[in-house]
Parts: sequence; structure tokens; C-alpha cells
Amino acid sequence: MEPTLKERDKRHLWHPMKQHQTHPDSLAIVKGQGCILTDEDGKEYIDAISSWYTCMFGHCNDTIIKSVYKQLTTLDQIMFSDFTHEPAVKLSEELIKILPNNQNRIFFNDNGSTAVEAAIKMALQYHFNKGEKRDTFIAFENGFHGDTFGAMAVSGLSVYNGPFEDYLMDIERIPVPNGLNNVKVLKMLDAIVLKKNVAGFIYEPLVQGAAGMKIHEARDLELVLSFLRKRDILLLADEVMTGFGKTGKLFASDHMKTKPDIICLSKALTGGMVPMAITSCKEEIYEAFLSNEISKGFFHCHTYSANPIACSAAIAVIELLQTEAMQKKIKEITKMHSDFRKKILRNKKVKTVSSLGVILSIELNSEFGYYGNLRDKILSFFMDEGVFLRPLGNTIYIQPPYIIEKKQLNRIYEVIEKAIDEL
Ligand SMILES: *Cc1c(COP(=O)(O)O)cnc(C)c1O
Repeated sequence: MEPTLKERDKRHLWHPMKQHQTHPDSLAIVKGQGCILTDEDGKEYIDAISSWYTCMFGHCNDTIIKSVYKQLTTLDQIMFSDFTHEPAVKLSEELIKILPNNQNRIFFNDNGSTAVEAAIKMALQYHFNKGEKRDTFIAFENGFHGDTFGAMAVSGLSVYNGPFEDYLMDIERIPVPNGLNNVKVLKMLDAIVLKKNVAGFIYEPLVQGAAGMKIHEARDLELVLSFLRKRDILLLADEVMTGFGKTGKLFASDHMKTKPDIICLSKALTGGMVPMAITSCKEEIYEAFLSNEISKGFFHCHTYSANPIACSAAIAVIELLQTEAMQKKIKEITKMHSDFRKKILRNKKVKTVSSLGVILSIELNSEFGYYGNLRDKILSFFMDEGVFLRPLGNTIYIQPPYIIEKKQLNRIYEVIEKAIDEL
């Protein structure tokens, strides 16, 4: 008999985020259509987390495919240093229309981590070009910004950073403001700003994804942002996860009055079709790189920068996102989440539930254990029930594609309730 994909996988592949000795198997998916994933045995799963928050318009979305196909047959790849092309120009125009008002420049990267990496380098060189040496970043405890060195350094979730700790930049960490600790957080910031030369503050606006979809209030974050803006510290919003409608507005930064200087985007940017990321910034940052000295330019580049095919996917995404139908779906999911939130909160095993836009997170009481066997048990329970959910520690969270049907979303809720009751 032919070996299965699952068996062939084990011969040569090394998966990300995995201890292969204790977790040798990977599920082989052969098809994705809309909200449904199909495995090699023909079993179907509802993709309740949009394949890591990317496929917000459903898998193999027709509109995105058409845009990509047209581009595939026109211009596949061209270096972006000294060359330009219609998809990149068009995408920059469309993005600037929807990004917070102060953004005016689009810089291309390959993935979320490198978008953060470029943002960090931009901030450091911005000060450097102006003749100031600033060497410290402020970041939230439990923040996540990616796995390359700079991104790893600013990430506060350091459980897996052990071997690299000695090679990371110096970061000052503050707790996320929660209303109760606001005064303390501002005092900490005051002390940091006095003591260090701070280049910038990097934050996941309103939702800390990898920390377990932890949601905080816009008015609390606003306090931190306006405090730092007054002290001339650059604000770097990592919207890799929150961008493109997730929080009910186009960008999470739209919920706050103080707008970021630099924004990192990826994940939903191409609707999951192809990898790409963007670091946008305001004109003033760009201007600090203009000089007759060549070396004051931003000498940071990835070979596939502004790949035309990826750009064509993103152009389709922006069009889809702004349709009335899609905005209506986002509102509908937001409403369904808040109704379910009230219901599930009555369950004794549930500690807290929060939701913002299409993101819903349920934290269970700690008797469930963190990253223990129970987490694996909950995971396989969901998969057996045909719902692809990926609990993070004690937190079960949903971030369904915007196009999900009511029936499918209700099925997800039902399976979550069942899991909490039975486990
Ligand atoms: C996923 C994520 C990243 C890293 O993006 P990759 O494409 O996985 O490198 C960075 N920041 C945030 C907030 C993310 O959610």
C-alpha cells in the first residue's frame, strides 16, 4: 500500500513550533474551500482560527484567485530595488487610503517577523540619521512580535528563547494597562524614559495574540500612547494579527486617538494566499532617510520584496474587505460573539471571556493546567468534533473567516460548550 502523507512527512520534514519526539504526527490537509478544511481521510473541519488569522475571506477565495491568476500570467517577479510595477503602486495607493491618516510610506517585507525587524531598524536609524543614539525599546510583557532576532528580543513571551537570550537587544518591559494599574504603568514609563535613550515603543494594539488573545481597552492603551508621543518616542504598532478588520475597525489603531508612527502588517494582508508583509510609516520618518549621503538610506531588502503576485492578492483583499457584504458579515460575527460571551460566562469552569470584533477568547479556570496533557486533550476533542481550534494554554479562542455561515459559527460555539462541559 502507498504510504500516507502523514507517513511520508516524517521522513524528511521538520515542522515549526514542534517537539517531534513527543508529537511526531502532523495532520495532512488536502483541500481548503471557504471555511472548510479536508484531511487525507476525507474528514472535514471548520477552520475556526482562519489558519492562523490569515484566510479571513475563506480558503481559495475566488476574487483573490482571479486577481492572482491575472498577475501570474502578466508579471511574476521583478526585483524591487530600482524597479517598480503596477501591483505595488496600486497596492500602496489603496493601503494609504485605508491606513490611519498619518501613514504615507509603504515598505515591503516577506513575513510578520521581518516586518517587525524592518520597523525596529527604521526606528533606530531614524534617530541615528538625526544624530541621536537611542538604543532601547519599550515593549509589553507577554507581547509577541515574531521569531527573528529583533522580533524575538521585543517579544515578552520568552519561554522558548533560552538559547538566544544572551544575544538579544535590551528591552524595557511594562505591564499592559488594565485600568487598575494605569498609574503604576505611567510611573514605570516615566522612570524608563529618564534613565534610558528610548528609540520606540512596540505594541500589539488591543489584542495580544500569542499571549492567548488577551484583549485590553482602547482608553487604557491611549494613555500609554499619548504619554510616549509627548516624550518624542516612536510608536510601532504591530498589527500583523489585528489588521484588516479583525477588531471591527479596519485597523486596531483606529480605536485610539494617538496614531502609530510605524505599522507592521501581514497575515490577513494577502488573505492567506501567498506570504507578504508591509511596514508602513509616516512621511516624517521617510524624510529622515533622505540625504546626499547614500548611507543614510534604508539599506534593508528582501529578494521577494513587493512580489507582484503577492501584491495582486493584497489588492483583492482590500477590495473585498471594503465591500458592504464583508462589513456586514464582520458586524454579524461581532454580535454573535457578544451574545455567546454572555451565555458562556455563566459556566463555572470559565474564568473570563472577552471579545473584540471577530476575535473571541475564553479563559478557563486554572484546574485545566497550562500546556499540559489537557491542552492536547482539548485539541484532539475539537478535531474529533470537526472543528479546527488551537487552544493556547488555558485559553480557547476563535477568529473565524469573515465569510463564515451562522450555522458554522454556531457549531463552533456548540463544540466549545461541549468541550468545557465534558473535560
Ligand atoms: C504572527 C505574528 C508575528 C510574526 O509573523 P510571522 O509571519 O509568523 O513571522 C508578529 N507579530 C504578531 C502580532 C503576530 O501575530
